[in-house]
Amino acid sequence: MTTRRRSSARPLYGFLLALTAAAALVLSGCSSTPAANPASASAAACPTTPTNIVVTTNVWASVVDQLVGACANVSTVITNSAADPHDFEPTAETSSLFSSSQLVVMNGLGYDEWANKIVSSLGADAPPVLNLGDAVGLKLGANPHIWYSPDYVQKASVAISAKVKEIDPKSSDYFDTQAASFATALKPYLDKIASIKAAYSGTNIGATETVFNYMAAATGLVITTPPGFIAAIATDSEPSTRDVATFREQLSDGTDKVLIFNSQTEGGLPNQMRDVAQSNNVPVVTITESLNPADSTFQAWQIAQLDALAQALAT
Ligand SMILES: [Zn+2]
Repeated sequence: MTTRRRSSARPLYGFLLALTAAAALVLSGCSSTPAANPASASAAACPTTPTNIVVTTNVWASVVDQLVGACANVSTVITNSAADPHDFEPTAETSSLFSSSQLVVMNGLGYDEWANKIVSSLGADAPPVLNLGDAVGLKLGANPHIWYSPDYVQKASVAISAKVKEIDPKSSDYFDTQAASFATALKPYLDKIASIKAAYSGTNIGATETVFNYMAAATGLVITTPPGFIAAIATDSEPSTRDVATFREQLSDGTDKVLIFNSQTEGGLPNQMRDVAQSNNVPVVTITESLNPADSTFQAWQIAQLDALAQALAT
């Protein structure tokens, strides 16, 4: 059987009241749409019985999905790109998803710590866990948004392939074929990053929080926003008035050519900075932490955002 199971755990978001009716509608709709999967569209049938893999975020689920093809049923826990994944709270449904899986793939670095809690609560029945933060060699305290780094995405892919081979060694050749297809599928994304770097390396940009940091480094863009402002937004605390004033200045005096705005961050201050950028004709590139749209692939989503970035940098 090759059907992808994509279940939404319908968590309780305490801040839902702040969301628009439209966003609330999206949240209440349980997503069961299979992800577009170009890497395995023409793949052969799995030589063994497919395993069940649960992945904490839909970003990594898309990567895992393409790497395992027909040899695993991939479930996603966080599927909603309207809410802040940092505030996700698992339900009993999440727990049962874990206990019916043969592998858990999590981001790690504190991003989805709830997954470790579920695994602990399952005791001896818990499936093995692949922690991608660990796999790429980072330690707790590092920026957890590792899927915004092309290097970490490629390292994580290698770790995912190795892990699924360990669990299902008879499908090793199959997984190698999938990995080769995925590497090919990533090429336009890597080329796009290289072309932005070639054209705009050294360009100053503003950012409302840390989600884009690794991609800024990969494209050579320089985030000028005071680190104190970004750190405060990331930890839901108040930045200093001086940092806010500096950021406003950078958006109005021509320092920042573009503002990167994460639409999944809660709080009024990022929205205020977006307004400052707009009123000063600084193009705003809206990005998300989660796959958007949810049935996109990792690479299609990233390329769409990079296209928007290139377009903003060109104006
Ligand atoms: Zn984040």
